[in-house]
Amino acid sequence: MILSGKPLQEQIKEQLKRHTSGVPGLAIIQIGSVEASRIYVKAKKKFGEEIGVSVVVYEFPDEVSEEEVVHLIQQLNADTKVGGIIVQLPIPAHLSKSRIIETIDPEKDVDGLHSVNVKKLMTSDPTGIVPATTRGILSLLAHYNISYEGKQVLVVGRSDLVGKPTALALLNRQATVTIAHSKTQNLKRLCTEADIIVSAVGVPGLITADHVRAGQVLIDVGITRKDGVVVGDVSKEAQSLAQAFSPVPGGVGLLTIASLFQNLLRKYTGGITT
Ligand code: NAP
Repeated sequence: MILSGKPLQEQIKEQLKRHTSGVPGLAIIQIGSVEASRIYVKAKKKFGEEIGVSVVVYEFPDEVSEEEVVHLIQQLNADTKVGGIIVQLPIPAHLSKSRIIETIDPEKDVDGLHSVNVKKLMTSDPTGIVPATTRGILSLLAHYNISYEGKQVLVVGRSDLVGKPTALALLNRQATVTIAHSKTQNLKRLCTEADIIVSAVGVPGLITADHVRAGQVLIDVGITRKDGVVVGDVSKEAQSLAQAFSPVPGGVGLLTIASLFQNLLRKYTGGITT
């Protein structure tokens, strides 16, 4: 089975459209000239326009000062027309990511990266904002009725943005979670033992046919541009062995954007959780 993100993205889009009248908008801060960031920001703006939410992009050059960014965030925090603020990552090395993220009002932190929201995820507090990619993975699994309660889930990748929050969110929902990373020595064994593999690495073809056995579910979060084509972490041969897999492109990525807007509109959509 192919776990396409498209039908669920359309469903979420239609649901959100009904709740966007008069809602505060999204502010995106984009720093520098990373090409992939421009593509993501464009896609977020397009989704916002399609559902009727204002998305304002604030662009800064690579050499912007930290004070300038912090000052803008403080202004956006105080602006009642702004409901969500995201800083498109990565940002240039001379800026403190931690200071910049911590300046965002946790209620407007729709990427779920502020320590207040991280702590809420850690303590299973449902009032927290779950990072969009993690939320998208949970929605995709729910949409295709893939249960993970009591199952062995292997999350490959331990970034603050994807791997860790995804592992925590699945743990909170009763999965038995193992986390692998670049120093993990027995990745093949861990993979074959898992019922569900979530790969969030960014190494094309990392998960090969040798890592996979029949009956598994493969969630591919990786996005890498290779020879002008977008590819994930899971090889074609591995996909063909699995019971179900999410494609790249067309899988989790589509839901990350939809989930971001679910986070933005969470106070207005009453009860939409998928
Ligand atoms: P990241 O910060 O670079 O983290 C990558 C993780 O993969 C790290 O934990 C790293 O381990 C681990 N890793 C690297 N090589 C490995 C290997 N050979 N075996 C096992 N683990 C390995 O990246 P990220 O921000 O989490 O993003 C991961 C991927 O998802 C990227 O391709 C990114 O483009 C994509 N992404 C997709 C979406 C979406 O919507 N689909 C959203 C966000 C990101 P160490 O910690 O030991 O270095």
